[in-house]
Amino acid sequence: MSEHDWSPRTKAIALGRPTGAGEPLNVPIYPASNFGAGTDRAYSREDGTPTWEALEETVGALEGGHATAFASGIATLAAVLDVLPVGSRIAVPTFSYAGTRGTLAHAERTGRLRVTQLAPTDTAGWIDAASEHDLLWLESPTNPTLELIDIEAIAAAARKQPHRPRVCVDNTFATPLGRQPIALGADLVVHSATKLIGGHSDLLLGLTVAADEELARELRDARTRGGATPGALEAWLALRGLRTLPVRLAEATRTAAELAERLTTHPRITAVRYPDEGAMIAFELEGAEAADAVCRSLTLIRHATSLGGVESCVERRASLAGDAHVPAGLVRFSVGLEHPDDLWSDLAGALDRLT
Ligand SMILES: *Cc1c(COP(=O)(O)O)cnc(C)c1O
Repeated sequence: MSEHDWSPRTKAIALGRPTGAGEPLNVPIYPASNFGAGTDRAYSREDGTPTWEALEETVGALEGGHATAFASGIATLAAVLDVLPVGSRIAVPTFSYAGTRGTLAHAERTGRLRVTQLAPTDTAGWIDAASEHDLLWLESPTNPTLELIDIEAIAAAARKQPHRPRVCVDNTFATPLGRQPIALGADLVVHSATKLIGGHSDLLLGLTVAADEELARELRDARTRGGATPGALEAWLALRGLRTLPVRLAEATRTAAELAERLTTHPRITAVRYPDEGAMIAFELEGAEAADAVCRSLTLIRHATSLGGVESCVERRASLAGDAHVPAGLVRFSVGLEHPDDLWSDLAGALDRLT
């Protein structure tokens, strides 16, 4: 049986490790800028380090492409934009990570790119957009509205275009365990490994995964030029987090499904969004005031931004300037690994205390 045939769960454990006699089972942290002359590895910003490469090998194998590690998730967007000509046309979901839309809006204001926003589930609109855009930036499920985008249909439409627009999928919420966009026809996948891959709210890191080697080389050159390289410790922690992603995701998904069900039964909840996959729920209350009161009154579940850690967190997303168009009473709930009964009792208590 070759490595290729291993299940994703086994790949997450077994790849990216030294295998020689007497070597440590885990790749060490290499805090190195330069290496002794005489090999291909001279300077880490250009040539990488063994720690980065162990992470890249593992994520690349899980996604079915060639991975490059960056300093953060948003640095991967900067690299993807860096390899597009000035004036390129980009389509992005109306609901998607606020930092992504903010960076694109800035690039449009400064005259570098033209940006169109499309509703995540308007598949016909995305298919039409393929003919007049150079990059289709997808995110599924979307942050924070948890809508699913039809990656396969949109990628198929892009492939039929003579100018071959690039299809890039932000796979942060699904993770490589939940979905492999390259197998669905995407050219490129990006991750904020800050979230579920790292899994412990203790690092910032991003990854690109390109279906073909030429695009992977371009993105690596963009990293060398832009200098958004991952830290040695962060790369090591991200790989350590990735080892347990399959079990963390499975457990958090079970808990999320159960809590989504229970939330629908509470009279103060006006809507529950759960796409039947993953660790993220969005629930809605009648307005900002009630949602803020719930966030403040939780004791076990942390009121904090970001997501994907072992500890559960909530945030009312419309309280952020970049997400002001999200329903005012929508609370994004990142489900961690605490016992579901403890999480429910915290939630039900906060909801019951609403006046
Ligand atoms: C957080 C996030 C990003 C940005 O990642 P950073 O690591 O914070 O730079 C991009 N996409 C999604 C979906 C995210 O949730």
